[in-house]
Amino acid sequence: MTAKQTTVAVLGLGAMGSAAAATLARRGCKVIGFEQFWRAHNQGSSHGDTRAIRKAYVREEQYAPLVLESYDLWMRLERDTGAELLREIGGLVVTPSNGQTLKRSIATATKYGIPHEVLEPSEVTRRWPTMHPPVGTSTFYERTQSIMPPEKTVETHIELAVRHGADLHFNTPVSSWTHSQRGVELKVGDQIIVADKLVIAGGAWSEGLFADLLPVKCERLFQVWVKPDIDAAVFSVKHHPRWVLESSEGRTAYAFPILEGQDSIKMAFTAGTASDTENLERQALPGEVETLVGFMSDLVPSIRGKGATQVAACFSGKAKDDNFIIGPHPRCGNVIVASGFGSHGFKFVPVIGEILADLALNGTTNRDISLFDPSRFVRQA
Ligand SMILES: Cc1cc2nc3c(=O)[nH]c(=O)nc-3n(C[C@H](O)[C@H](O)[C@H](O)COP(=O)(O)OP(=O)(O)OC[C@H]3O[C@@H](n4cnc5c(N)ncnc54)[C@H](O)[C@@H]3O)c2cc1C
Repeated sequence: MTAKQTTVAVLGLGAMGSAAAATLARRGCKVIGFEQFWRAHNQGSSHGDTRAIRKAYVREEQYAPLVLESYDLWMRLERDTGAELLREIGGLVVTPSNGQTLKRSIATATKYGIPHEVLEPSEVTRRWPTMHPPVGTSTFYERTQSIMPPEKTVETHIELAVRHGADLHFNTPVSSWTHSQRGVELKVGDQIIVADKLVIAGGAWSEGLFADLLPVKCERLFQVWVKPDIDAAVFSVKHHPRWVLESSEGRTAYAFPILEGQDSIKMAFTAGTASDTENLERQALPGEVETLVGFMSDLVPSIRGKGATQVAACFSGKAKDDNFIIGPHPRCGNVIVASGFGSHGFKFVPVIGEILADLALNGTTNRDISLFDPSRFVRQA
């Protein structure tokens, strides 16, 4: 790809913004980026040690090809930077036997030739004695399920962007943006920065950046680390898979095995609660830890006793339909929107970096992103 003289500004250098900045800079684009907090911070969506990726994706069909491409791009990022990011540990999804999650997991795995097994409760307990799936459940086991470290991923993309000449500014909030005949103008402190294109990747703070045009809200998701009642080594990431439990009422929580140097299992519910960026609640709410541990201990009884060793709230931008919002701004074609990644965007980080770079530099991408079109909301309005 030949070098372009276009200046692209990136607003927000979290997971998606740092990936966009790195990809753009690597393609020879002049990049300037702004982040309101410090490098790879723990204030938004991208912290808490671990994120998961699985190939047998159960959402709308547009996601699965992007997940598969992401696996390759995660590995390319490792090769390019020397950072170890993707770690295959296997994953279990324990769901009602007659539920949609199991059917869809099997359908995606079959369609794309993804190795998988469907296990009865007794077989799960035989292989992993910590796990006691309830009667009436089946367990979908995918050995290629993997985990990534969110903070290190953001840092890796920041380093890559800087290595390719990006001019990145931390602790530097953008207070507003407008488009004019000169391009896109960003107000940063008492300066006006002019760029040809702007990528907005503001995560939980997205709503305020789109002047109510796009229905994306801040959502709070709560992570809890729990020390098991038994020897922690039993849950070591070296030999214990990640797991997800979906109840017959449709409530879902997930857990990560214990990382090296740690003594606790991290767990969370997949669904969050509406939050307000002016008033972010970072501590545990009354009963919050107990509800999560109670839910998960139906499957893994040996986490019942010791309570939380650590908690961390995350804040994410979630679209009204819980699908990503990626594409040109409906009213301003030289602004690219990257928002609404909710609780399922991290696995796509490298492919979204590619898509955002394609859109900023070429105005189009060869991936199918029709589901994510920002105009879908404007058409509905
Ligand atoms: C608890 C939790 C668990 C998750 N687990 C998974 C998982 O297992 N697998 C998976 O695929 N996904 C998962 N996700 C989802 C994934 O982590 C998010 O979708 C992803 O991190 C979102 O990245 P982002 O770039 O949109 O947000 P962020 O990384 O938060 O980046 C947005 C950035 O914009 C900055 N910003 C905002 N406004 C301004 C401004 N005005 N000026 C300058 N900077 C600004 C913010 O400070 C922030 O750094 C999880 C999310 C959470 C919260």
